[in-house]
Amino acid sequence: MLDGFVPYPDSFAIKYKERGYWRDKTIGDEFDEFVARYWNRVALSFQGQPVSYGQLGARVNRLALHFVNLGLKTYDRMIFQLPNEPEAIYCFYAAVKIGVIPIAALPAHREAEISYFARFTGARAHAVPSGGKEFSHQGLSRKIRQQAPELAYTFVSGPGVDEDFISIAGLLEDRIEERVSVEALKKYRPDPMEPAVFQLSGGTTGVPKVIPRTHNDYSANYRRAAELTHMGVDSVMGIAIPINHNFAMSSPGFLGTLYSGGRVVPVASTKTEAVFEAIEKEKITVMPTPPALLIRWMESEALSHYDLSSLEVVLAGGAKLSSEAAKRIKPLLGCDFHQNLGMSEGMLFWSRRDDPEEILLNTQGAPMYADDEIRVVDENDRDVPPGETGALLVRGPTTIRGYYNSPEYNKKAFTADGFYRTEDIVRIIRGRYVSVEGRSKDTINRGGEKISAEEVENHILAHPKVENCAYVAMPDRQLGEKGCAFVSLKANRRLSFDELIRFLKTQRRIAAFKMPERLELVREFPMTKVGKIDKKELRRIIAGKMLINS
Ligand code: AMP
Repeated sequence: MLDGFVPYPDSFAIKYKERGYWRDKTIGDEFDEFVARYWNRVALSFQGQPVSYGQLGARVNRLALHFVNLGLKTYDRMIFQLPNEPEAIYCFYAAVKIGVIPIAALPAHREAEISYFARFTGARAHAVPSGGKEFSHQGLSRKIRQQAPELAYTFVSGPGVDEDFISIAGLLEDRIEERVSVEALKKYRPDPMEPAVFQLSGGTTGVPKVIPRTHNDYSANYRRAAELTHMGVDSVMGIAIPINHNFAMSSPGFLGTLYSGGRVVPVASTKTEAVFEAIEKEKITVMPTPPALLIRWMESEALSHYDLSSLEVVLAGGAKLSSEAAKRIKPLLGCDFHQNLGMSEGMLFWSRRDDPEEILLNTQGAPMYADDEIRVVDENDRDVPPGETGALLVRGPTTIRGYYNSPEYNKKAFTADGFYRTEDIVRIIRGRYVSVEGRSKDTINRGGEKISAEEVENHILAHPKVENCAYVAMPDRQLGEKGCAFVSLKANRRLSFDELIRFLKTQRRIAAFKMPERLELVREFPMTKVGKIDKKELRRIIAGKMLINS
C-alpha cells in the first residue's frame, strides 16, 4: 500500500463491493472496455479536430508504453498542469493505466504551490504546456527540479519544447508499440484499492491538502454522476473550467462522459464568446459550470448572437446557485439544470431532473448512493433536530477516509468513526435534500475556486512591513466572493496595494487567483471573546463598504 494513504476499513470495503458500488476495476480497465465498445465513435473534439475512441485508445497506450520505457513506475506521482486540451486527457489515462498518480494541479499554480506539491508527494514527473507569452511553465519546471531532486521528468505539450524536456507530441509520433507489445502494460496494472488520482483541496490550512481518490471510489463517483445526469452516447460535454478540477474530471466530467460513450470538447478559454462559439460549433449538450460563469453567460449581450439550441443541461456546482439565478436558466439559455454540491474529498449531491421545482430551485440535491451517510451536527457533534441548520459530516463509497500523509490534520478533519467534516453549514429538507446555508471553514470561494485564508495570510505576513493580517471574503457580484486583505503595519511603515501584489507575485510566487483584490489598512483588529481576530466582523465591515461604494 502507498505510504501515507488511509485505506477504507475492510468492513466498509466489503459492503461497498457487495452492493456493486465498487467493481474492483481500475480506471484503465474501464478505459480499455469503453474504447473497445465505442471504437468508431468520436471521443474528443478540439478546435474542429475529432479523435475517435479507437485513436484515443492507441494514443493512450502509446504514451503509457513510453512512460514505462522512460522509467516511470506504478504509484509514482506526476504533477499535472496541462490546460484544457486533448493531451491532458491522453496523459491522464496513460498515467492512471500504469498506476502513475496524477496530481491535479492547475495551470495557474506557481512556484509556491508546485514546489510544495513536488516535495510533499515526492513527485517524479511534471506535465506542463509549452506556450504562454506571459509565463513559462517550462521555466517553472526547471526551478522546481532544482528544489525537488526526485522530479526527473518534464513532459511538455505544444511546440517549442526545451531540449532536455520531453515533448508529448514527440512521444505520440514514435510508434513504440511496434517495438514493445502493449501487453507489457499489464505488469503495471495498479490495485483498484490504491489511489488513482491526487485531487487538491483549497483547504483551510497553511498548505493545500492532498486528496487520494482510489480507482474504486473515483469510478463509483463518475459512473453514478454520469447516470444521474443522464450522460449517454449522444452527450457532448464542453469543459471550459480547468480540466483537472474534480468537477471537470469526475462529476461526471470527462471520465463520466467517456465512460458513457459521449464526446468531450475541451474549451481553451472561459471567455463567454469562446464558450458560446464552442457550444454552437460542436453542438455541446452539457456544460459543468460554477454559478459565476453561468451568470456571466446569462447576462452576456453575445447571448443572442449564437445558436445555443444544442445545450440540454448545465451542471451548476462549486458554489451556491441562488434560486433567482436558477429561475433564469431556462428562459435565457433554453436548457435544464442540475444543482450539485460537490467536494474533491468525495461526496456528491445532485438534484434530479424530475425533482419538484421548489427542490430544484432551492436545494443542492440529494446524495448519490443509498450508503452515502450524512449527519448534520452542532458544535458538540450532536445531531441537530431534522430540518435545522448544522455542520455537514459525510461518509460513503466515494468519500475519502483521510488526506494523504497528514495524520495530525486527519484527526481534526475526520470523526473517530470516519466521517469527513465538510465545514459546510447545511439544512436537510424533506429528509434527503441538502441546502447549503454557509460554511464554518476559513476559505474564500472565488467563483468556485477555493482559497485558504491561512495560506495567503502566511504569505502576506512574510512581508517585512506587515505586522498582522486577516484575509477574508468580500462580496462580488460576478464571482460571488473575492479576497480582501486587512493588514496592520509595523510602526511608521506604508504599504500600497500594488507593492503588496508585487511582493506576492515576485517574492512569494503564488497563483494569481489567490491574490488579494483589495487591501484595507487598519491600526487594530476587532477581536473575539477568545482573543482571535474577528473575521465575521471584518467580513461585515468590508461588505458594508462595498455596498456604499456600489
Ligand atoms: P472543492 O473540493 O474545491 O470542489 O470544494 C468543495 C466545497 O465547495 C464544498 O465543501 C462547499 O463548501 C463548496 N461547494 C461546492 N458546491 C457547492 C454548492 N453547490 N453550493 C454551495 N457550496 C458548494
